[in-house]
Amino acid sequence: MIEIRDLVKKFYIDTPNELEILKNISLTVGKGEFISIVGASGSGKSTLMNVIGALDRPTSGEYILDGAPIQNMSDLELSDIRNRKIGFVFQTFNLIPRNSALKNVELPMLYAGMGSRERREKAEELLKLVGMEDRLDHLPNELSGGQKQRVAISRALANDPAIILADEPTGALDSVTGRMVMDLFHQIHETKGTTIVLITHNYELAEETDRIVTLKDGIIIDEQIRPKTPASIGSGCQSEERGENG
Ligand code: ATP
Ligand code: MG
Repeated sequence: MIEIRDLVKKFYIDTPNELEILKNISLTVGKGEFISIVGASGSGKSTLMNVIGALDRPTSGEYILDGAPIQNMSDLELSDIRNRKIGFVFQTFNLIPRNSALKNVELPMLYAGMGSRERREKAEELLKLVGMEDRLDHLPNELSGGQKQRVAISRALANDPAIILADEPTGALDSVTGRMVMDLFHQIHETKGTTIVLITHNYELAEETDRIVTLKDGIIIDEQIRPKTPASIGSGCQSEERGENG
C-alpha cells in the first residue's frame, strides 16, 4: 500500500543553504496495518507524515501509493488522492470553527461531489459511530477536546479512506479521553480494515500497534514488530508486557 524508498526531504530556507530533514527513509506499510511512528521533537515525524499524506513531495526518492508513483503527479492529482484515499487527524483537531459538527464531516464529501442528502446521511452515520449523534449541530467551540477529536475522526472517515494518518491525535487530550480516541482507532482498524499510521509521543499507545517505527534526526533507527495481542487492547485488561515498560 505505502512503499517509500530512499526518501530524502530537504527544506531550503535561504538558498543555497539546505536542511536535510529526512535522510534516506525506506518504509513499507501493508494494507490493513496499524503502525506507529515515535521519535523526539524535531526528528521529522510530521515531515514524513506530510509526504505520506501527499501534502508535500519528497526531494528525492520514491513514494508509491497503491502502485502509483506519487513523486511524478501533478498538484491536482495529489489533491484528488488525498481526498479519496487519505483521512487526516491532527493534534489540534483542525475543525472549521463556523461549521457545525455535521457540516465539518460533510465537507470532504462535498469536495468529492456527493449529493447533499447522501452527504448528510453519511455524516450522521459517522458521527453516530463515534458517539456524537447528540451533538450534530454543535459548533467546535461548543464541544470538549475529546468530542472535537471524535468529530475530526468522523471527518477523516468521510470518503472511506484506505489510510488514516493521525499526527499526535491524543496529544491535546487527557489520558482518559486519549484512551477513548485510541479505542476508536482500534475499532476502525478492526471493523473497516483501514491502514492507520499513528504519530505519538506516548510509547504505551505505540505499543498497542502492529509495528513501532522510531525516527531520530530524519533516520529510521529502529523498527519493532509487535506480537498480536487483541485481548490486551482497550481498558481494564491485562497484558503480559505492559508491566515492564509502562
Ligand atoms: P514534533 O514532535 O515536535 O511535532 P516532528 O518530529 O514532527 O516534531 P517535524 O515537524 O517533522 O518534527 O520537523 C523536523 C524538522 O524539520 C525540524 O527541525 C523543523 O524545524 C524542520 N522543518 C519542518 N518543516 C519545515 C519547513 N517547512 N521549512 C523548514 N524547516 C522545516
Ligand atoms: Mg510533529
